[in-house]
Formats: sequence, structure tokens, C-alpha cells
Amino acid sequence: MSVREEMYKERIREMEECISNLERVLKLVRVINATLESAELLDIIVQVVTELLQTESASIMLIDKETGELHFKAVAGENRASVRPIAVPMEGSIAGQIATQNQPLLIRDVKSDPRWYRQADEKSGFVTRSIIGVPMQVQGKVIGVVEAVNKRGDAEMTWEDVRLLAVLADQAAIAIQNAELLAELKTAYEQLNRLDQMKSDFIAVAAHELRTPLSLILGYAMFLRAEASGETQEQLNIVLQSAMRLRSLIEDMVNLREVESGEVALELETFSVQEMISSTVEDLSPIAEAKRQRICLSMPREPIVVEADRNKMTLVVSNLLSNAIKFTREGSKVGVQAGRKGSTAWFTVWDTGIGIPKKELGHIFDRFYQIEPSLSRHYEGMGLGLSIAKAMVDLHHGRIKVQSKEGRGSAFTVSVPLRYPVSLPKKSKAGKSR
Ligand code: ADP
Repeated sequence: MSVREEMYKERIREMEECISNLERVLKLVRVINATLESAELLDIIVQVVTELLQTESASIMLIDKETGELHFKAVAGENRASVRPIAVPMEGSIAGQIATQNQPLLIRDVKSDPRWYRQADEKSGFVTRSIIGVPMQVQGKVIGVVEAVNKRGDAEMTWEDVRLLAVLADQAAIAIQNAELLAELKTAYEQLNRLDQMKSDFIAVAAHELRTPLSLILGYAMFLRAEASGETQEQLNIVLQSAMRLRSLIEDMVNLREVESGEVALELETFSVQEMISSTVEDLSPIAEAKRQRICLSMPREPIVVEADRNKMTLVVSNLLSNAIKFTREGSKVGVQAGRKGSTAWFTVWDTGIGIPKKELGHIFDRFYQIEPSLSRHYEGMGLGLSIAKAMVDLHHGRIKVQSKEGRGSAFTVSVPLRYPVSLPKKSKAGKSR
């Protein structure tokens, strides 16, 4: 074989080795992208370092923020167990110098190097001959060092090895950063869950504490109104309306809490839609009367019998009808229509009020959404009524639709199956409103 041929062969062999190394690095990158557990990842990285660089051992050390010492986070090689607990000082160690200078190092004969931290070998019983090491950085800041120790078969460490180690160290840094981000995210998530639970508990307790005195106020006010006349009756009407508004706000908060925590369970019963609507209308008629509004009812005589949760359907009608009353001028008309179509029951709550701009129609079912900002608005409310109504209708596997024209009025139509779908679980989480 000619010298030239020999040269070519050697060159090809080098290139093949280079490709095979690159393939392994690529494999490692894939593993890093797929694994989020940092301990597992760092173990894989040191293992790959020993295989790729043909060394007896490899390690990843991280700077301890409190002590400033370097601690082993992952070690590959026979000396694994004995090295792990050792803390390496920044001063008087090769790893310390790599970290403080932020520069790679190649030391072929460790024994004659004054920077070598010999105590590590004394403690572990391992014999270090040669070391290469590179700093590990996250966002320009050195967080640790990756080292490879003793080339197998007495071969020498090279700067090519250092270059490869630097590539792997970059991957290790990414893995550590990812793990830190994940840990931060987990903590934030746990905190959020705790806060959510606190909010949920607070609402439950507050609602419980408010309900009893409110029922008493409502009871007394109703009793006194029946007895009173003239101006006193007018005043009692105002007390009664305020108390009813407060009750519906509390109910909205409780319902939202239940919907969000997935605690809502359907209590199915068989009832007539007309009867349920009539009694809700009767409940709200004092509020309509106070605005001199007429509630027009248009429902077939023959009962539309459904199997559903009566309280929850009442809440839907009540939320829609109170909005209709609220967003309609004094003396104007609002109304409810109901009917049956095939195997569904439907009802429409309509009004001749202010209407909803087209661009807002997609948002009004969102929680806390109000078209007019709540501090400057003329209308009371928390922006919860429609989202709760939708969640309740969703629970029944029904639909809620809205049609509206600005300045002319709105119509909300709800349709639910006559019978609750038997094949579906009765206890289900309410879908979040859009
Ligand atoms: P709120 O407690 O503010 O009434 P809702 O969730 O019931 O909250 O309604 C959300 C928003 O949708 C309301 O603030 C209002 O801007 C608009 N809206 C709802 N119903 C009507 C209606 N019948 N007429 C006009 N606007 C309405």
C-alpha cells in the first residue's frame, strides 16, 4: 500500500470515528429531550462520556450555592460509590480551577500537578493518572464542571477529547436548566393549587355563614311586607330585592366553586319544565315588578316532562331571566317560551333590552366576563351567571345559544335531552365554559 493510500485510509478511519461520535452525541440529545428527570439524565451523560472518550471514569460536579464547594451529582466508573460523598474545594483543586477560570483543562500527569486535589483519591482509593475537564454554564454563569479521568489502555488524553467533553457538558447544562425550570414550575403549580384550595374553602365557609342570616332577613322581610302597606311596603320591597340579589351572588359563588372543583353531581328527578319555569318566574317577579316589567310566558299546556336536576335547571332559568330583567329598561317586556322538539326540551328567555354587540357574543359565557368594565358599569353582577348556566347545561349534555341585536334585545335558548343520557356517568365534571 502506498503512503498516499495509507494516508487516505487513516483519514477515512478518523472521519468514521468522528461520525460515530457525532451519532452518539445526537442520540444523547434525543434522550435529553425525552427525559425530564435530571438525576437520570446526568447519569446517562457521564456514562456516555466514558464510552465516547474511552475513559475509566467521568463525573459531573455542581457548585453548592451555600458552601461554594463542588459536589458530585453523577459519577460513572468503578469508583462511583466512593467518590459520590466527597466535597471538592474550589481552592486547590483542578475542578475548582476549571470553574473559577471558566476554562477547560487537560492534565496528562496529575501526580506532578500542584492543583490536584489528592484527598479525593485518598478517600476513594481510586488512582487518578490523567484528567480533562470543562466548565458547565447556564446563561453565561458557571454552575459546575464535567470531568473525565484516565484514558483506557494507557492512551493519552487529547484536546479532541476536551472538545467532545465540552459538547456533552453543554447538554448536561441544558438538562440541569430544564430540571430547574421544571422544579420551579412544580412549586408554582403546587402553590397555585394550595391557593385555589384556600379560595375554595373560603367560599364554602363564607357562603355557609352568610346563608343562614340571609334566609332570616328574607323570611322576616317577606312576612313584614305582607303585613305592611304604603311607604313601608315600598321600603320592604327594596330590602327584599337587595337580599335576593345577595342570595343569588352567594349561590353563584358556591356553584362556581363546585363546578371548578368537579364536585357537582346531578340529582336527577322527573318534573315538568313549565312548572319549573313558572315557579322561577314567580320567584323573580318582585324584581321585574320593581322595574314595572311584564314577564310574558308562552308554553304549551301539555306538560313537557324531563328527567334532569331540577335545582340546576332552575338556576339556569333564574340566571337568564335575572339578566333579561337587569338589561332591559323599566316598563319594557321580557319573557320565557318553552317547547319540545323530538327528544329534547327547549326554553328561550328573551328580552327587549340593550342587546349584546356581535363581537362580544363569543365571550359572554366566560367566567367573570362583563361587557362593561365592572367598576364603571351601571349594572350589578359578577360576570358569573352565564358561565354557571352554561356549565349546568353542559352537565345535562345540553346546549345554550344566544341571539342578540344591539339596542333591540337578546334571546338565550337552552335545549336538553328529555331523559338524561343513561349511557353516560351521572357524576361528571362540568366542562369549563369556553
Ligand atoms: P353578570 O353577573 O355581569 O350579569 P353574566 O355572566 O350573567 O354576568 O353575563 C355576562 C355579561 O353578558 C353581562 O355582564 C352582560 O354584559 C352580558 N349579558 C348577559 N345577558 C344579557 C342580556 N340579556 N342582555 C344584554 N347583555 C347581557
